[in-house]
Parts: sequence; structure tokens; C-alpha cells
Amino acid sequence: DDQVPDWLHGQLNEEQLAVVTASPEAPILVFAGPGSGKTRVLTYRIAYLIAAHGVAPRQVLAVTFTNKAANEMKSRVLMLLQQQQLGLGGDDASEQQLASLRIGTFHSTCAHVLRLYGHQMGLPSDFVIYDTSDSEKLIALIMEQEFHLESTVMKPSAVRITVSKLKTDAPNPFSSLEDPAIEDYERRVRAIMEAYQLRMREANALDFDDLLLECVNLLEQCPSVRVALQRKWRYILVDESQDSNRFQYDFVRLASTDVRSGALVSPVFMVGDADQSIYGWRGADLHQFVRIRDELPDCQVFFLELNYRSTEPIVRLAQHIIEQDAKRLAPEKQMKTHWSQGQLPAVVHCPDSRAEGMFAVTMAQYLVEEYGISWDDMAVMYRANSRSRGIEEECVRAGIPYRILGGMRFYERLEIKDTLAYLRLLGNVDDVVNFERVINTPPRGLGDVSVNRLLEWAHQLHLSPMRALELLAHLASDSAIATEAGLAAEQLPPSAPVAQLLQRGEVCLADSALNNRQLTAYLQFYGQYCGWRALLQRKRQAPGGEAVATLTHVVSQMLDDVGYREHLKTVSQSTGNAALRSAHDVHRERLENIQALLQAITKFEDTVGGDAQTLQEVLQLYLEEVALVSRSEEEYLSQQPDGEGWQGRLSLMTLHASKGLEFAVVCIAGAEDGTLPHFRCLDEPDRMDEERRLLYVGVTRAKSFLFITWDGLPLSTGDDKEDRALFEMQRFRGGRPLRPLSAFLMSVPTELLQRRQAKQWMREIARSHDWARRSPKLDGMLSAFLRRVDAAEATSSSRSPYKASGGRGNAPPYFQRASEYRGNWGGK
Ligand code: ATP
Ligand code: MG
Repeated sequence: DDQVPDWLHGQLNEEQLAVVTASPEAPILVFAGPGSGKTRVLTYRIAYLIAAHGVAPRQVLAVTFTNKAANEMKSRVLMLLQQQQLGLGGDDASEQQLASLRIGTFHSTCAHVLRLYGHQMGLPSDFVIYDTSDSEKLIALIMEQEFHLESTVMKPSAVRITVSKLKTDAPNPFSSLEDPAIEDYERRVRAIMEAYQLRMREANALDFDDLLLECVNLLEQCPSVRVALQRKWRYILVDESQDSNRFQYDFVRLASTDVRSGALVSPVFMVGDADQSIYGWRGADLHQFVRIRDELPDCQVFFLELNYRSTEPIVRLAQHIIEQDAKRLAPEKQMKTHWSQGQLPAVVHCPDSRAEGMFAVTMAQYLVEEYGISWDDMAVMYRANSRSRGIEEECVRAGIPYRILGGMRFYERLEIKDTLAYLRLLGNVDDVVNFERVINTPPRGLGDVSVNRLLEWAHQLHLSPMRALELLAHLASDSAIATEAGLAAEQLPPSAPVAQLLQRGEVCLADSALNNRQLTAYLQFYGQYCGWRALLQRKRQAPGGEAVATLTHVVSQMLDDVGYREHLKTVSQSTGNAALRSAHDVHRERLENIQALLQAITKFEDTVGGDAQTLQEVLQLYLEEVALVSRSEEEYLSQQPDGEGWQGRLSLMTLHASKGLEFAVVCIAGAEDGTLPHFRCLDEPDRMDEERRLLYVGVTRAKSFLFITWDGLPLSTGDDKEDRALFEMQRFRGGRPLRPLSAFLMSVPTELLQRRQAKQWMREIARSHDWARRSPKLDGMLSAFLRRVDAAEATSSSRSPYKASGGRGNAPPYFQRASEYRGNWGGK
């Protein structure tokens, strides 16, 4: 084909090539299974548009599901273009052009649009983004201040989730409640939601839902913005479309169709796989994904059917799992594989959760030794975030490098949250939530009572807490307190809301009901705050172009001013975990994290380029970036600073967070009924299907090795004596009822999925080599595992009444035989 540029040959198969080189102006849909190259095709398409059709990089908008995916895709595109020296030369101008290529998540794209055009709707461009924990704190504050509700009566976290569902029209916002008092609850939540929206506006803050909602609003209300966007982005590409929600579709529609005629003006290119839709519970609209085909009349639809990722046994297992879905949207879809040979996936029984964690890390270590697989290429996945803790502990014990994706370990850390809270407050004087977080951290002698007093007072005056401090400073300006607090003699003129209050002359110092000591502490803090704000006003560069001021410097200065690093020492004393880390280690680790954050800021400063003139502007951009990457919901992979220290690590993540990724080795932990499928979904067929798809997503992440473990009721071994021994060991452990293996796996034929006992398998591995000589580390891990399992067996059988009664009789009826489970939950 003479239309196909040389550089594409050998990179793509025929089907993929057809997609990539389809007419640039045609709307395109690609429906295809996991590992078939959807993301690859999308990436090549961008490069193709730029290289073969002279599309300017800034005319392209690509939307991915996570920030990590966005970054990877961007570097792939740049690599493709640079490697082949396509279209653009290697000079500076082309580098800059490439930098304007926009690849991001829906959230970051919407934030970008709102910053640019939000003012047309009255939205100030310096809004801050509240992440989920910020929102939750604000909700807690509202519940306490305005509704006098204890957090024991209603959980702020649950309220936040419901509010989010209400805002995004997610299905069944109140479904998790069976309470007869549900109406009462609903009424309350709606009232809280109203107050929340008001307070968010006052704080000039948007949450993640708002980013989408407001952006769609903007496009609907302001045709001129729509036109402007359409001039800006001529080509719109969307990965993982099956998990887009209604607002995301609206965004794409509004950004790509003519304001008057509704005709398509920017060709869209969407790829997705209905079988991998796993965010329905949060409002992703699978039906919309299916309908899109009818809504794009002239679109070309493509299917890809060759899986390049996984070996045949893994694909066959995946296929079997997904075929159990009775209401599958594309039941005829059959996957072919590029790789034929491979290891049979295994489901592995572990006697308890500790052993499960040990099995995962020991097996991983074995694969490193035996097959030379790198740690980066291995992942442990689980249904619920809470599971990460145990596995993390095993990694620490065994000295295995790991990183947690989506667990927000980095941005959720105390020291990072504190520092960022300072930064957010610095970026936005109206912030309430972050004010609360930093006002007494490190301690300034301000107890809850005095902080609440200030917050109440500020609330009454319709001022944010920081503005209230400003008011205090003006009221106290001539007094001895101001001098003692070290407030500068000549202050800045008051801001508008404060000036108004001062003019009316109705407030005085005494109204705040704060004593002198508290006043001094507040004013001191306010003085520091003003000092930092002043630093931020500086220009980044001298007229000659050299850097004169950096945000990193301001942050570091700020931490010194408040004595934060010292403070961490005290904190670490109380939180050191004797079993794993000493207080000293914790303190050191915290300081390292602060250092890593400062480095990340420096790195960020290097990349912002001409977008920001002052440090204030740098700060704004940085906060936006952080808010979006630290989103504490599962699908947002945490951006641990991607420095060298983070390479060569085993990845731990939830199944939800594993979307789009691939690893040579995947271990899925916690495959018990009740965990996967989650017990909350058992009665709802739709959610059961989604749980099945979740397992399907996990399974299809694996390239070569797949282990699925469960900690619960063992399977029958077929040997009566052995069954009984197993049963005894299990039955009397800790009194927790044992859960059977996930029903999704129970009926899978053994030709597709081998059944193994962790203990036996580890024993076999232990015997397979002279590990003591070859790898003392693995040797140690293997014997620790076997010792641990033996000990568990010994204690449980000594406590077993079964043994006491002579142990005679038939095998207890607790074993499951595969046959009993066939036919359950849509099984065939
Ligand atoms: P998922 O649905 O899980 O997101 P996907 O359809 O996006 O999967 P990709 O991640 O694009 O699949 O591709 C899976 C793997 O197969 C990647 O490592 C990709 O580079 C590789 N691959 C895809 N197509 C080809 C090809 N034609 N030649 C070589 N490798 C390929
Ligand atoms: Mg993909």
C-alpha cells in the first residue's frame, strides 16, 4: 500500500494499520479486547496525524484514564516522532511544538479549559481543586458547624460519596442503605450538599465532579468557548471509552460538534472494550458507549482480534471468565493470540492471609531468581485497598522493593499532606479546609476550642479564616499585640471584604473572643503568611532570562519558618511502629519524603516554561497538577515521584487501578467469595457482572505468569485424609468464618486453571535447587514460609475438637466440589 508510510511497517498488523491510516477526517471507533493494541493504535494515530498529515501537535487532544497513562503515551508519541525524525526536525521550535501536544485525563483537560475560559461564566481562574479528602473534611466541618451532626451518626466519608453520586447522576445514590430512615437520610444529605456547594464556591474551590460538570456547563452556556475549543483541538482521541460517564461524553460531543448544526467538526477517535467496563458504580455509562455508534453517522468501526499481550493459556482463561457474563454486549467476540505457548494460570490456596502475602512475595522472588524477570514487571493486585497493608508488610519483612499504585501512599503521607496544605492555603486565601489543617501544625498553642472559635467567628462574618486573621491584624494594628506578634508597622491595604467590615465599624477585637495569647499566635502566623505571599509575587526570571526565584526555595523557607522538620521528629516518636520501623527510621523516611517533594517541585518548575511569569503562577499550576495526580480514588495511580529510586519495584495495586497496564507476572490476591465478587454485589446481577469484568481486567494484565490466591476454605483434594487435615487446620483458625474460593473461578475447568496448595508448591520450589547456595535470600523466604505454615497447622490442630473426638467420620461437608458450584451465577 503506497499510502502507508514506511515507518509504520512492521510496527502494526494489517487491522491495526487500517485503523491508524484511516482518513484523518473520519470519525473512528475501535472495539477490541484487552491487549489487542488499542492504546498502541491510538498512540500511533497521533504520530501519524502529525507526521503524515502535517497536523500541528497543539491541534490534538488525547484523553486517557490515568495521569500515568497520559505521561506514557506522550513520551511514546514523542519518541516515535523523534526517532523517525518525522515531520518535525530536532530543533527547539519543534520541541516546543511537541510540548503543546495535549494528552491528559478528562479531569485535567477540564481543569485546563476552566482556567482558560471559566471567567466567561464568572469562575475565577485561580480556583483550587479539592481532592476527595479535602471534600470530606469540608463536609465534616459543615455537618458539625451547621447541622450539629456527630460523625458517628453519619459518616462524612459516606456523605461525600453520596453527594458525589447525586452530583453526577450516578445510579442509586442511596442504594447502599437499607435503613427505614432512608428518607430522613436523603433529606439531610441533600441539605448538606447544598451547604457544601455554597461553601465550595466561597472557598473558590472545585472538586473532581465540579471539574467535569462546570466544564460541560461552560460549553453548553457559552457557544463562543465551544467555537474557540474547536479551533484549538481539531482532533480528539479517547482511550478506555467504555468507562466514560455521561459528562465525559457530553464534553466530547460539545467539543467536537458544530454549535448550530450539530454536525461533527472535529473527528473523534474512540477506543474501548465493553468487557472491561468496571466503573459503572461510579456512573460510567456503558450503554452510551454502545450507542455512540449510532450517534456518529459516518463513523468507521474497527475490530482488532489478536492479543499481543498474554500467552494463550492466560487468554483462554480470561475468555472463559468473561463468557460467563450472560448479558455480554459482544458475545461473539473471540480472541486470538499472538503468543501460543505458556504457563497454565494457577489458583492457589493459602492457609491464612499472612501466608497469602508471603506466597506472593516469595513466588515473585523465585521468578526473579529463576527467570530473571525484573521487579518492575511484576504486580500484586487485590479487590480492596485494605488488602495492600498485609502485602506491604511482607515486602518490608522480606526486604523487597515495592511501590503502591493508587494507594496514594506518597500524597497521603502526613508530611506530604501537611506541606501541600500549606501550599494550598498559600495559593488560595479563602481555603477553609487547609487552614484548619495547618493552623496548629506544628503546634502554636491553639487548641481546638480557640480554632473553632475563630472558624465560627469567620463564618458569621462571611469571611474565610485567613481573611478573618487579616481583619484581626487590622483591628489590632495599633496595639501592643501586633508589636509582640511582629506584624509589620505598615500593612498592606485591606482586601475588599475586610475593608467593607472595617468601614462599617461594627466589629472589634473583643468580638473574636480570643485571649491575648491566642491573638498573638494567630497574628504571628498571619505575619508569616503575608511574608510568603510577598515572596510569591516575585518574577521568576530577571530581564536577562536567568532564574532569580524558585518555588522550591519558598517552600523550603516556609518549612523552616514554621519549624516543620523539627516538628516531624516529635510526630514520629508517637507513630513509630515498633514491629517494623523505629521512630528514628520513620523520622528519616519522612524527611526523605519532604526532600522528594521538593525535588518534584523543582522538576515541575523546570517544565512549566513560559506558562508562568511569577512564582504565584507556578504555584497555581503545580497545585493543579498535584490535585489531579493525588486524587485519592482508585483509578488515579499515584505519581510517586518518578525518580530513579522508584524503579525496580514490585507494584501493588487494586484491580481497578490496573486498567490498561501489563506485567509479565500478575498475582491476584484475595479471590474469595465475598471479596471478589464483593459481598455487597451478591444480590445485584448487574454489579455481579461488573465484578466479573473486574476479575477479567486483572487476569488480562498478565503477560506470562498468572497466580490467583485465596485465603479461605480449601478445595477438596480428593483424598479423604488430606482433606480432613486441611479442614482441621482451617476450621479452627481464629473463629472467622472461612470463605470459599470465588464463584467466578470455582467452575473453571482444570485444563484452564490449575489448582494448587501454596504449601506444597513452595515445598517443591524449595527442593528444586540448592537455594541456600544459589540465593540465600530466597532460601530464607522459603523456609520462613514453610515454618510459618507448619506452625499454623500445629496450633490449629492442637485446638481442634475434631481431633479430640478421635477424628473419625466422613469428611466434613464444608468442602466445595467444583460440581456443586456449576450453574451458579450464570455459569454454564
Ligand atoms: P487494554 O484493553 O488492556 O488497554 P490494549 O488494547 O490497549 O489493551 P495495548 O496496551 O495497546 O492493548 O497493547 C498490548 C501490548 O501488545 C503492548 O505491549 C503493545 O505494545 C503490544 N502490541 C500491540 N500490537 C502490537 C503489534 N502489532 N506488534 C507488537 N506488539 C504489539
Ligand atoms: Mg489500553
